[in-house]
Amino acid sequence: FRKLPLNRKSKDELYELSDTFNHMMERIESSVQKQRQFISDASHEFKTSLTIIEGYTSLLQRWGLENIDLQREAIDAVHKESIRMRQVTYQMLELAELEQEAKLLISGFDLVSLCKETIQLLQPLSSKKIFLYPSVQPIQIEADRFQIKQVLLIILDNALKYANQSINIQLENLDPHLCIHIIDDGKGIPTEELPFVFERFYRVDRSRNRQTGGSGLGLAIAKSIVTLHNGNIQINSEQNKGTVVNISLPMRKPFNFNES
Ligand code: ADP
Repeated sequence: FRKLPLNRKSKDELYELSDTFNHMMERIESSVQKQRQFISDASHEFKTSLTIIEGYTSLLQRWGLENIDLQREAIDAVHKESIRMRQVTYQMLELAELEQEAKLLISGFDLVSLCKETIQLLQPLSSKKIFLYPSVQPIQIEADRFQIKQVLLIILDNALKYANQSINIQLENLDPHLCIHIIDDGKGIPTEELPFVFERFYRVDRSRNRQTGGSGLGLAIAKSIVTLHNGNIQINSEQNKGTVVNISLPMRKPFNFNES
């Protein structure tokens, strides 16, 4: 029997090892904590919808046959909550997919055309006007077209919800980066809330946002997509003045991604 030589570590090395270990444990704990929070927030979201559906269906059971007004009100409420639950489920799946598989379908395309296409989809739904600058010269970029359109839809949908009259999209070619600024003249976000708006299920005014249909997942999805492209998204806002969403994206590959 031969004793194996002990791999002696110096005090500094041991200290470094334990430091790395503690750091890893902190990261694992924080990720577990985030998952727990996500499940709890998602459950809360569904619980609220289910409570409304249950409440109205039990009212219908009791008085529904005689009361036509109650029938209408209940049908509307149940329909609204079902749509909401479908939307939240869809967004949760989208977020989970982005965080797990993170596959991007990269192609070269003109961002100006994509912006115009997105504006055409949203403009008919609102009386507030969306402007695009510059809107003539194409700006070529290599990215996942579908996902970048998702980001534009999310940010513009928010801007339309909160703007007073108009939204400006400004494109800036800072080769090798491209910046998209989406500016609205709306109610803005209080400074103390700004650090949290990219968190999943975070809504600045929970009850009011529930009425406007917001789930609080939009900005989390937008951030995941931009980060996958090695880009950056950031918000500046002033209450009762407006909000500016700044997105910066590399114009060309390579950036770190798992291409499908
Ligand atoms: P939601 O689905 O509720 O819109 P988001 O994640 O997209 O969720 O946004 C989070 C919250 O940030 C919103 O609920 C809203 O309170 C606030 N917010 C986002 N964009 C704007 C904006 N342009 N103006 C004012 N508030 C905004």
